[in-house]
Amino acid sequence: MELIDGNRIAADIIAELKAEVAGFAGRSPCIALVRVGEDPASVSYVRKKEKTAAEIGIEGRILLPPVTTSQAELEALVDSLNADSAVDGILVQSPLPKGLDEAAVFRRIAPEKDVDGFNPLNLGKLAQEDETGFSACTPAGIMELLSRSGVDLSGKHVVVLGRSLIVGKPAALLALQKKAGANATVTICHSRTADLPAMTRQADVLIAAIGRPEFVKADMVKKGVVVIDVGINRVADATKKTGYRLVGDVDFSGVSPLASKITPVPGGVGPMTVAMLMKNTVKAYRLRRPA
Ligand code: NDP
Repeated sequence: MELIDGNRIAADIIAELKAEVAGFAGRSPCIALVRVGEDPASVSYVRKKEKTAAEIGIEGRILLPPVTTSQAELEALVDSLNADSAVDGILVQSPLPKGLDEAAVFRRIAPEKDVDGFNPLNLGKLAQEDETGFSACTPAGIMELLSRSGVDLSGKHVVVLGRSLIVGKPAALLALQKKAGANATVTICHSRTADLPAMTRQADVLIAAIGRPEFVKADMVKKGVVVIDVGINRVADATKKTGYRLVGDVDFSGVSPLASKITPVPGGVGPMTVAMLMKNTVKAYRLRRPA
């Protein structure tokens, strides 16, 4: 069994981006990071994005509207960032406080600055395999983990657990693409799938993104499977200072002896999401300022 080290692969991508940005003439790429309110997880996610941007040489413009911000005010802020020619990418940290329509805010972000890839136009471009679009960061990170670990999906059976718009569906579309590294045969499973273990046992590559702690057990996979565990779940653990530990959607101790390659949680898919956000920001900069 080989561990797929997301921290190392993300660090490689960040180093590559840093070298690329150092070669840009004129202003640096710029990402606007919008965080509404003080949700602790959002505070730490935005801080991490700001730090990674700075490390690469991307300007991070931080906007912190208060929790009382109205939908109209937030959309007006997005409009002003859309119109600002010095801003290449816009990220509105999810989840937004209750009462705000997140999907409407994501739709408002100009598609050419939508580095999170949540705008419907970018999801459409992903389906059309139009390389000028931005794919959602977590699924794009999954593809990088696979290709940089020497896994060619061509002809392989990829089984995706979960059909969300931010992970499952775009991950399936990426694996299905008609291009080198992809060309997989894809099955998407969800909560209504009949006999899920019969599906997962067919997987050459299993992508688990359901948000159920250690759901995938050893008897649900075949020997040699490549496992990408997207899940981030907190389970109570009195031995930890925090009172909890993080586990994935896969029972790592049971499944890993059968797997040829597997991502750990944490340290697998998680670090890739921020790296891919930065990759999308540099791409937005390049597309908006052709050489
Ligand atoms: P969602 O809750 O949006 O979607 C979960 C999907 O899993 C749904 O399609 C649901 O089916 C399906 N599902 C739920 N329970 C079962 C079950 N028992 N059997 C089969 N399918 C099931 O989650 P996300 O896609 O947003 O996230 C999934 C996981 O990935 C979470 O743990 C999340 O924390 C993590 N995550 C990690 C990221 C990272 O950077 N590493 C980034 C984003 C998410 P149905 O559609 O029928 O309801």
